[in-house]
Amino acid sequence: MSRKRILIMLTVVFLVAAVAVGAYFYNQRAKNIDRITYLDFSEKAENGNVEVVYLSDSPSLEGELTDGSRFITENPRSQDFKESMLVLGVRVEEGQRNSALMSALRMVLVFGIITFSVWGISRLMNRETSSGRKDPADKLSTMHCETVRDAGVGFDDVAGNDEAKESIKDIVDFLKNPEKYARMGARMPSGVIFYGPPGTGKTLLAKAVAGEAGVPYFAFSGSDFVQVYVGVGAARVRDVFKKARDMGRCVIFFDEIDALGKKRNGMASGGNDERNQTLNALLTEMSGFNSNDGIVVIAATNRLDVLDEALLRPGRFDRQVEIGLPDINGRLEILKIHSRNKPLSKDMDLKNLAHQTVFFSGAQLESLMNEAAIFAAKRGSKLIEKDDIDKAYYTVIAGAEKKDRSAISRLDREITAYHEAGHALVTKLVAPENRVTKVTIIPSTKGAGGFSVSLPPDRMYRSRIQMENSIKIALAGRIAEEIIFGKDNVTTGASNDIEKATQIVMALVKRFGMGDSTGMLNYDILFQNSVANQERIVEECRAFMDKYYRETSDLLVENKYLLDRIARTLLAEESIDEECLEGIVSGQVSGPAVAAEECLPGESGQKSLEFGSPII
Ligand code: ADP
Repeated sequence: MSRKRILIMLTVVFLVAAVAVGAYFYNQRAKNIDRITYLDFSEKAENGNVEVVYLSDSPSLEGELTDGSRFITENPRSQDFKESMLVLGVRVEEGQRNSALMSALRMVLVFGIITFSVWGISRLMNRETSSGRKDPADKLSTMHCETVRDAGVGFDDVAGNDEAKESIKDIVDFLKNPEKYARMGARMPSGVIFYGPPGTGKTLLAKAVAGEAGVPYFAFSGSDFVQVYVGVGAARVRDVFKKARDMGRCVIFFDEIDALGKKRNGMASGGNDERNQTLNALLTEMSGFNSNDGIVVIAATNRLDVLDEALLRPGRFDRQVEIGLPDINGRLEILKIHSRNKPLSKDMDLKNLAHQTVFFSGAQLESLMNEAAIFAAKRGSKLIEKDDIDKAYYTVIAGAEKKDRSAISRLDREITAYHEAGHALVTKLVAPENRVTKVTIIPSTKGAGGFSVSLPPDRMYRSRIQMENSIKIALAGRIAEEIIFGKDNVTTGASNDIEKATQIVMALVKRFGMGDSTGMLNYDILFQNSVANQERIVEECRAFMDKYYRETSDLLVENKYLLDRIARTLLAEESIDEECLEGIVSGQVSGPAVAAEECLPGESGQKSLEFGSPII
């Protein structure tokens, strides 16, 4: 709420309170008036004990005695009453006692109530109706802004991302000493964009820049600047920069810059109009920077390609820094940072954990350690054990374990077991270099029926064969269901797998020029997302998918005995780890004898998650 509004509200509250208190005291005094009979009054008047009477048309007559006490009696309303009083030496005043005060009080009260109501109604209307008349500046106060004078975070708190840190070191130096650069006539970039997947530490790094330079840090979300009311976003942008200039050297951070800086499509209407105005305001403000100001604007986005080119021109966000998912060393460093204040048991091997967390972002790793600490605390343990990490791992990738599993039918468990066994076995058969650290049929609260974690080794590129293998691993769950329960009994559990397999095969054909008949062309560029000419691509994708389906199916039929063993072990144990799986696949472990064939095939709503590598 703005200070102006708070002041108005306080004034109104004060007025109403003053009126209420006045009326209360007046009432209290009125309660002290003695009611006397007319006879008594006449006697007192004749004895000279009445000081004054207040003559009015009301049925009661008020007055005061010579000793200062007040009374009230019947009003005779006779014509000669005034004269008779005057003769007795009683002062006569026309009108009710304090009527002036009363009416003044009443007026203030009525005025107070009306003002209060009008203010309340106008507030409600302002909130609900569109208002070109509304002062945009008023809206600024409702915007969420994180303002930190001392960020308390430095580069040491950001693990990995060494290249990113290196490429912004000069900006920290510039923030510390802008004059040094101005003397040399150097034009420092006033805007830097951090781009990369969510949770990789973009916000953290922006804060660290401010922390290292020892300057204040303002953080906003891009979506706060895109409003329903045209002009409000632009006003907010101007206000942010004004505040920053008043502040002197500082870092302004815009998270999700794409919310306001998406490519413009030329049609200025409605929401677009607002967005264009906001973007223009941002561009103008950034161009108006003086390099001596010592203000650095950092923006973050998950996708650089959706941003308007104008934002990336010199003088605006002219430095773009990629913040990627951490590699094995980065993950180890992040795990170390987030276990600084956590008591880990001696047998905890963070290096191994770093190996098992391929494709985890920094935020997921932080969450992993935090969840593990919560599990350990809940157990009342003094140390965080491997088991806590295992549970946390499950929670981070699939959500919390479903505790009540009594409602899951035996058939559904069997289907899930074979489905996950299919994923795990095909991983080991086609891509033995991938680690399968966990296979489970414990359902999660997020809807996964179970999952199998398949971790490819850290690689810079992905080969065609790796992409094909990823498709086969994704299809293996459905194929295993089909082999065991029959074509008619396959379930909806494979929907995520099909989605993933389709994404990979599409990328293979459309983007990477790996299609047999489609050739070395990028079809997105060729047809600019038009639906025409898509048939050929669909045909090529289908041909690939059918081929991979057949090959995977042959593989599973050939190794059905291994599929049975893994599924039976899953049914008996619910989860199996890497060692156990390796044992079964290498023939050292045979698995318990649970007869899956006893079950009748039927409908199942189970879902399966397959954690493998992303498309690139
Ligand atoms: P982004 O802005 O890229 O979405 P954040 O900076 O908000 O990611 O990261 C969220 C949290 O994840 C951070 O507060 C931090 O705890 C953790 N984190 C992410 N990346 C790193 C990293 N490189 N080093 C240490 N912690 C990290």
